Amino acid sequence: MLEHAEKDDWRRKYLSSLETLESRQQHWAQTEALLRQGLSRLSLAADGVDPELDRHLDELRRLLRAATESDSLRGPLVSISEVVRQLDDRRAETPRNGQGGSGLLGRLLGRGANSEARAEEVQARRLQIAKNLLQELAEDLLGQDAAADLVQRIGRADSEVQVYNLGHELVTRLQPVVRGVGGASAGVGAQPHEVLLRLLEHIEVPAELGSRYEDIRQMLLGAAAADHTEEALMAIADLVADIRGRAHRDRAEIESFLKQMAERLGEIDSAFQENIERQREGFEEGREFGRNVDREVKGIEESVNRSQDLESLKGALRQRLDGIRAHVRQRREAEEQRISEAEHQVERLNERLQSVQHESDELRRRLKEERDLALVDPLTGIANRFAYNERLQLEVARWKRYGSPLTMAVWDIDRFKSVNDRYGHQAGDKALALIAQLLRKNIRETDFVARYGGEEFVLLLPETALPEGVAAAEHIRSAVMESGFHYADEPVPITISCGISEFRTGDTPQEVFGRADAALYRAKAQGRNRCVTD
Ligand code: GH3
Ligand code: MG
Ligand code: MG
Repeated sequence: MLEHAEKDDWRRKYLSSLETLESRQQHWAQTEALLRQGLSRLSLAADGVDPELDRHLDELRRLLRAATESDSLRGPLVSISEVVRQLDDRRAETPRNGQGGSGLLGRLLGRGANSEARAEEVQARRLQIAKNLLQELAEDLLGQDAAADLVQRIGRADSEVQVYNLGHELVTRLQPVVRGVGGASAGVGAQPHEVLLRLLEHIEVPAELGSRYEDIRQMLLGAAAADHTEEALMAIADLVADIRGRAHRDRAEIESFLKQMAERLGEIDSAFQENIERQREGFEEGREFGRNVDREVKGIEESVNRSQDLESLKGALRQRLDGIRAHVRQRREAEEQRISEAEHQVERLNERLQSVQHESDELRRRLKEERDLALVDPLTGIANRFAYNERLQLEVARWKRYGSPLTMAVWDIDRFKSVNDRYGHQAGDKALALIAQLLRKNIRETDFVARYGGEEFVLLLPETALPEGVAAAEHIRSAVMESGFHYADEPVPITISCGISEFRTGDTPQEVFGRADAALYRAKAQGRNRCVTD
């Protein structure tokens, strides 16, 4: 009895210790993720404080992005603490503002001993984060060379207004035509959250980070967006860091795959060499066989010439024939062995080739899947701006080569702000998704529609001249008007306007977009729910 109880006791202890271990591991994984996130924020915030610190921070950021083993973070972390300690020592000797130092870390994290007195430093930290993020985004989105000047100017900015105006400049450079419609609300002097929202639209987000992206977007679209600027800023900084980490991991994965592939191909090549070698051996053996048979035949000739009587001739012939038979048997055996070896080898080669083929098919499929996801707008399920840019290039190239007509329509939902204001953002999002589907359903298979920005769409009509383009657009416009959209059992009237322009000889896509956009502006001015040509 007692034994039994004891056993039970052990079992319980064992299970509970397993549980503890598991939860501890989970806890560690979470802590590590938090630490990494904290480190990447810290490294953004501490930039520019001290040149030596900057160097270590650069290294740290590089390691964080590469998602390396935690162990390799130790080196730079130790150096950073050392530099921070020295900086704090120096600071303690010369206290600024007559206040005792709460330490650089404390200041950076905004919760020093007397943090309430440090609003100014918190402000400076926020400014620095915004500057760093904007610089990184500018380099990412424009390319290092094209961004150089902007990056320098961001570096010199010393107020939030300046930083966000530079952010706006980045947005307009990414979006070559400054929109006449609805553009005013995000012009110079735009609210930080509006600039962030516009910037966000340009960040290419892999599918699995889509929900985080969507959360940030919702935060920036919400009624209290202006109060959440800092939170959104941090979230975008984290998101950008994660996107890069992922890109790095993807690259590493593909590199290792290619290396593996090269090794496999090397193996296959050496197997082929072996095969050739074996064939050569077979050829040598064949020659040897020929020589042996020749020798025997010559022996027969000699025997015939030399023999005196039939009996001895018979004996000599039998001997020679036995010799030939032995050579033939030997030759056949060697041949059979070679054939079976060759067959085996061909089998192995086939298997290897198949596995290589399979792996590269798999990689290609995965890359395509990810690419396809990267080209779809998650909210509406239709093509996004990146997909549009790709398709535009293709259609423009075709138009140039074949000279067949190409027409573009730029769409904007009418009074969409009031839909949001009256029924809430969720209603707005539903309407957006519905309109996107209506656009997609009411065009030909060869036409192309994408969500260009917030509530704007762009439609490409290949092989279509202006009059047919207008007819197609009118068809879509009335489909939206008659959609009978409801939200929470309430009818919500929605209409949409567009500007249409056809490509003319010598046009750049930007010029055509500009003309369509100007026409859209007139459609709005003329009362909305209409399509106007340039
Ligand atoms: P109009 O175009 O007819 O001149 O009026 P509007 O009210 O549509 O004008 P404006 O372009 O200034 O407003 C666009 C609004 O669209 C602002 C923003 O609240 C809303 N919006 C943009 N993107 C989204 C989105 O993804 N979801 C939701 N719900 N609303 C969005
Ligand atoms: Mg608009
Ligand atoms: Mg609108």
